[in-house]
Amino acid sequence: MPCAEDERWMAQAIALAKTKGSTPQDTPIAAIIVRDGAVIATGTNQTCETCDATAHAEMVAFRAAGPASGSMDLRGATLYSTLQPCGMCTMASIWTKVERIVYGAGRDEVHRMYFEDRHLDTMDFIADAWREDLVLDGGCLAAQCAALYFGPNDAVPAELQGNI
Ligand SMILES: [Zn+2]
Repeated sequence: MPCAEDERWMAQAIALAKTKGSTPQDTPIAAIIVRDGAVIATGTNQTCETCDATAHAEMVAFRAAGPASGSMDLRGATLYSTLQPCGMCTMASIWTKVERIVYGAGRDEVHRMYFEDRHLDTMDFIADAWREDLVLDGGCLAAQCAALYFGPNDAVPAELQGNI
């Protein structure tokens, strides 16, 4: 279960997300990687800015965390993400060996465009991954995070749907 300290980090992630803007069109998605009470790296979604479909906030943070910490091994670290990580980012979490994933809005609270699959939830994959010590905690400041994104029933224009 997310705790008060988690909410403090998530509040920072929300603030970071909002540096991109406060409407869903601004893709205000952010991730923060924390270990031993200190930030190792942060990231915001940079897909449009860098013309890189893989530049999700979590990936940006993972790529910065290695050089920042001097190791690609993020054992003992927690990944905070304002939105439930997608399939790519959940699998990357396994490779980085991050110990915990804490996310804000879950996939049921946002538009389906944020996820790459119709029926699968990759959280189930990593919950059943080789690494049995990967802890998943969703719903941290969920309402505040969900408010940043298109809702499940919003009529999102096709040109704004990154996954269609
Ligand atoms: Zn992702």
